[in-house]
Amino acid sequence: MSDYKAKFTVIPCAVCGQLVDVDNFGQGKCRHCGWHQDEMSLEYPDQVEYPNMVSFNKAKTLYKQGLPIKPSLDDFIEGLDFYQEMEFEYKGILFAVCNHSDDTICFSKYFPSDSFEAQVYYTYEEFAEKAHIGGKLLKDIWDDVTNADYMICR
Ligand SMILES: [Zn+2]
Repeated sequence: MSDYKAKFTVIPCAVCGQLVDVDNFGQGKCRHCGWHQDEMSLEYPDQVEYPNMVSFNKAKTLYKQGLPIKPSLDDFIEGLDFYQEMEFEYKGILFAVCNHSDDTICFSKYFPSDSFEAQVYYTYEEFAEKAHIGGKLLKDIWDDVTNADYMICR
């Protein structure tokens, strides 16, 4: 029989200090602030390190200010650079951003539809400046974006 409980240890969250269950690898998501306990994030505190979407130092600052740990568009692009496949929601619709091996950045609906034509960009800067949804620039509506994260297989 599996000994599920014994595999977990309880430690204080590196960001908010609340207790969080971590596995054998010291990894676990804080239910209080959403921070993923992760050694790499602590080792490189100013970089976005998977599975977190913001750097450790930024997460601490946001938490102290009482703000949610939410990535900026720049943080999102840093994640994209590492992980190649990202997703986010806007007005309940799931979008995908993929960095293909031919160095094109493809911005599309996660579930393709006729009403949204996929956009292709050639640099992160171009994506950040020009990506749009229904005529609104992504950078201008980023505050309304939710669940910006590494892509999960559905
Ligand atoms: Zn926490």
